[in-house]
Amino acid sequence: MTTQMQELFRPSAERRRILIVEDEPVNRRILTRCLEGSYAVIPAAAGGEALEIVRDQIETISLMLLDLHLPDMHGLEILQRLKADPRYARLPVIVMTADSQAEVECLNLGAIDFIPKPYPRQEVILARIRRTVELSEDRDILRWTERDQLTGLYNKDFFYRYAVMLDDYHKDLATDALVLDVNRFHTLNDRFGKAYGDKVLQRIAEKALELVRSSGGIVCRSEADKFFIYCPHRTDYADILEKVSVSAEEDGSGNRIRLRMGVYAEADKSLDIERRFDRAKMASDAVRGSAANAFGLYDRSMSEAELLAEQLIEDFPAALREGQFRVYYQPKFDIRGDVPALYSAEALARWAHPRMGMVSPGVFIPLFERNGLIQALDYHIWSETAAQIRRWKEAQGLRLPVSVNVSRIDLLDPLLKDKLCALVADNGLDYADMILEVTESAYTEEAAQITETVKELRSLGFRIEMDDFGTGYSSLNTLSTLPIDALKLDMQFIRSAFAGRRDTRLLQAIIRLAEAVEVACIAEGVETKEQAEALKAMGCDVIQGYYFSPPLPAAEFTRFLSEEKRKPEGARER
Ligand code: C2E
Ligand code: CA
Ligand code: CA
Repeated sequence: MTTQMQELFRPSAERRRILIVEDEPVNRRILTRCLEGSYAVIPAAAGGEALEIVRDQIETISLMLLDLHLPDMHGLEILQRLKADPRYARLPVIVMTADSQAEVECLNLGAIDFIPKPYPRQEVILARIRRTVELSEDRDILRWTERDQLTGLYNKDFFYRYAVMLDDYHKDLATDALVLDVNRFHTLNDRFGKAYGDKVLQRIAEKALELVRSSGGIVCRSEADKFFIYCPHRTDYADILEKVSVSAEEDGSGNRIRLRMGVYAEADKSLDIERRFDRAKMASDAVRGSAANAFGLYDRSMSEAELLAEQLIEDFPAALREGQFRVYYQPKFDIRGDVPALYSAEALARWAHPRMGMVSPGVFIPLFERNGLIQALDYHIWSETAAQIRRWKEAQGLRLPVSVNVSRIDLLDPLLKDKLCALVADNGLDYADMILEVTESAYTEEAAQITETVKELRSLGFRIEMDDFGTGYSSLNTLSTLPIDALKLDMQFIRSAFAGRRDTRLLQAIIRLAEAVEVACIAEGVETKEQAEALKAMGCDVIQGYYFSPPLPAAEFTRFLSEEKRKPEGARER
């Protein structure tokens, strides 16, 4: 421990205070005189008095010098009481005795050192005291830095270190990595206050530690509401989860507190400890939101997905450089008139991967949204799209607005507006040539900032379509104030409306909602004539889906467009 750190952790450079517990006035005087030059001395002539001083001043006392033979109690009893109380256990004690027989017992009770009677030379006494004080301050600092202040558990760094030590000592022992999560902890905090949340976390910490400590397990709080457990292999996880849950709720309030647990059992020790806990986290995330199951066991398929994800992330930069990302275009048709009329198109990303073939955006988009690559990809797709719109305009004299997907992460980019404006300007486009699709959930998350950004883009002249409508939680009230030009119903509504029981009431209600807030209503994923007709009857304005065309590469889409143009009026009946 560096002296700099020690200074940092000690509140002031004041002289350290030493409590001398000694009933013989002569001895007290000798010791006081001996220490005075370097320390502040607090004398106590009896055990009761000493314990009172400890109780009131524990924070500022650096050391106790303890005589074993006191008028009111034996020194061993004082040692015992200090050791039993966690508030006082850290106070180092040097025992002063003429009886070398008592030493073992004193050591067992936590005494750190001895000063024999009669007293040795002053330098010897001072040297022992200095050493003891230094040692115990180092230990305090260590404890402070290795512990989480709220729960007293190890913090994550130390936890990982100790876990690796455990492995080193017991190479053949099968071990498990466990993650305990509190479901919706933030709502708990919001509803009942931070102090309540803290108490819940403390009870969880205490119980988890109690349950695994005896078998050699260790516990840490890794994040606000997440705990890691590393322990010799066992199978009673469900029991642990149950017991911890019960004690989390043990405050008489009757509040339900739900925990979930992910287990990576008999962990592969050739993996970094962090990776082992990643797997436990995957197992826990797999049961997130499941009411029926609060307990997830890691299995191989989870890491196959993880391996694929890693591979895709690794391949991303080259893919972008080498043009492996292509843009496909899917038309949207206005169905309000007698014959469907081309309305716009949507640009959709495709990855032509050299080894894996066509990778679906359903795989890589959510992945890239999680690790920040989405911005680079989206910018690439937008640039390609803008260049394509320009080509269609110049070569075909065709004016078709194309929508691009704008992810939530893009909307937090302060340069977004500049980037989009530059694309429009550089390609000689109008703002109306590019439509921006923003998912409903983006508005419900960082609501204020995102709404502001979208408003600004819209006031420039970009049209805004709210994508995947019905999956976020916009109320009618917020909907009417949001800067949007169209609602794109989430495909799931079409799926369930036309499946099995054909309950179209929900679909109808949502279409009416769009009418009420006076924006166009777009249905995507429309596959059959029957669906298209039903949607038209319900008042839906625009349709996108395989019924008209799947997403097509630019060249094929160009052909599709010229065929559309050549069709005589009325021949569009499908
Ligand atoms: P989305 O924006 O809701 O796009 C509609 C998805 O439905 C597309 O899937 C499209 O190919 C598919 N689809 C179209 N018609 C039909 C149909 O009749 N039946 C069925 N079953 N599906 C149909 P895709 O292209 O796989 O894209 C999936 C999602 O990935 C998109 O959903 C969008 O959220 C995201 N995405 C795609 N390209 C981009 C992009 O360039 N940037 C961003 N940020 N996200 C993108
Ligand atoms: Ca979309
Ligand atoms: Ca959608």
